[in-house]
Amino acid sequence: MGGVQTERLQNYINGQWQTSIATEYLDVVNPANNEVLAQVPLSPASEIDQTAQAAAIAFQSWRRVPPTDRVQYLFKLKGLLEANLDDLARTITLECGKTFAEAKAEMQRAIENVEVACGIPMMMQGTNLEDIARGIDEMMIRQPLGVAAAIAPFNFPGMIPFWFLPYAIACGNTYIVKPSEKVPLTMYKVFQLLEKTGLPAGVVNLVNGAKEAVDAILDHPVIRAVSFVGSSPVARYVYSRAAANGKRVQCQGGAKNPIIVLPDADLETTTRITMDSAFGCAGQRCLAASLMVTVGKAKEPFTEAIVEATKARVVGFGLESGVQMGPVINHPSRDRIEGLIQRGIDQGAKPIVDGRQPKISGYEQGSFVRPTLLQDVAPDSEIARTEVFGPVLGLMHVNTIDEAIALVNRGVWGNMACLFTSSGAAARKFRYEAEAGNIGINIGVAAPMAFFPFSGWKDSFFGDLHGQGAHAVEFFTQTKVVVERWFSDWTRQF
Ligand code: NAD
Repeated sequence: MGGVQTERLQNYINGQWQTSIATEYLDVVNPANNEVLAQVPLSPASEIDQTAQAAAIAFQSWRRVPPTDRVQYLFKLKGLLEANLDDLARTITLECGKTFAEAKAEMQRAIENVEVACGIPMMMQGTNLEDIARGIDEMMIRQPLGVAAAIAPFNFPGMIPFWFLPYAIACGNTYIVKPSEKVPLTMYKVFQLLEKTGLPAGVVNLVNGAKEAVDAILDHPVIRAVSFVGSSPVARYVYSRAAANGKRVQCQGGAKNPIIVLPDADLETTTRITMDSAFGCAGQRCLAASLMVTVGKAKEPFTEAIVEATKARVVGFGLESGVQMGPVINHPSRDRIEGLIQRGIDQGAKPIVDGRQPKISGYEQGSFVRPTLLQDVAPDSEIARTEVFGPVLGLMHVNTIDEAIALVNRGVWGNMACLFTSSGAAARKFRYEAEAGNIGINIGVAAPMAFFPFSGWKDSFFGDLHGQGAHAVEFFTQTKVVVERWFSDWTRQF
């Protein structure tokens, strides 16, 4: 820190910015140069308790606000997010490392979720049927749950809380966000905008922290629902502990996404799209391509094109123009990625482009790994099975589409699988047989739009209802069924 006073971030609880009673603060670091940007409190369980109690009180009146009035705050929020888009994107680049263009695109995805949640007066409607028996009617209505919370990962500090928060509050719940302690600045700014919407106190709350805050959320009796996004081991843990405490829970986890390339795929677009998928956001996307599997005659031309494109990728500080890829999140992550590359090589893979230990002039302290290509990755090697979460693409080769699909399906992950081809029949077969919840056909990052569920499968997801769209409305409401009979001689009373 060099003696410079950095800002200590506060929590936003019950409509007030509040200094945490935490005894421990962590540095928030710019991964491009390792400079400290701020300090984040590791809030204790008692602060989650205070927040949950305040949110429970706020819920009593918030649920009575008509949905048409609740969404007015979201319309206002959309305007504020758009007006502050550049500032928010800049913050994302500073704390998370991705390029400014990637950060802007991330915030655009956040805004789209606000837009979809503005449709709550339609989306939250129930169903009814007259005469389920003679003279008896039945209706199903949706009611909010109460207090709900999100626990977010580092790689999309602006977007991921928006997979949940707009839907939760539009449905009449009150909400707590616990951002990743590595990237708390973006939500800090978003909550300053939420404050400007005039939402009643306690409807949205921000508590910074790490494990203690998470565990307090998972155990708190007032919190009815938990949405988690992060690595699979923590997702599994959060899912088990929250469920054991009787909560509704959805946990989106890690990934290892394959891209299958058939010989009839378009060389130029497939190469460009694969580059963006593997190395966009420095490979720190749960929808990053991590393995490219060429089929039959696709091997030579596509390998050659991918090698050239990988070498040409411009790496640097994400706020500088022309930079196509920023750093990874921190030094431990860089070291972990370099270790995985080494073990991949030890287990037989060939480093045809080796991005370790790069020299980025002016950013010597940054957490950089250049794009890396490993050829002849063995299906059972560690690098073929482990989520790298860095700019590393493993190349594999098979002879038929059936072998490729078998390769996709043998893994434990199921976040995304993509096929590049010009054959409709091959595309249909792949869509039908591939065991992943998000499928791309000539698409490298099959990210569902806000009005579709973010559909991870297998070890990439724990739960049944996913984030976004109709699934979010389902998740943040409980159904109530009313069976109603009225006696028909009332007219005689008048
Ligand atoms: P992470 O699991 O380390 O952290 C996620 C959250 O959990 C953070 O808020 C953190 O404070 C908390 N946490 C971490 N360890 C904990 C523990 N032991 N007990 C309780 N809480 C704990 O994940 P990350 O490194 O921040 O994010 C990257 C991961 O997220 C990758 O695996 C990526 O694939 C995944 N991800 C998945 C999706 C998806 O939609 N499936 C989207 C984005 C990221």
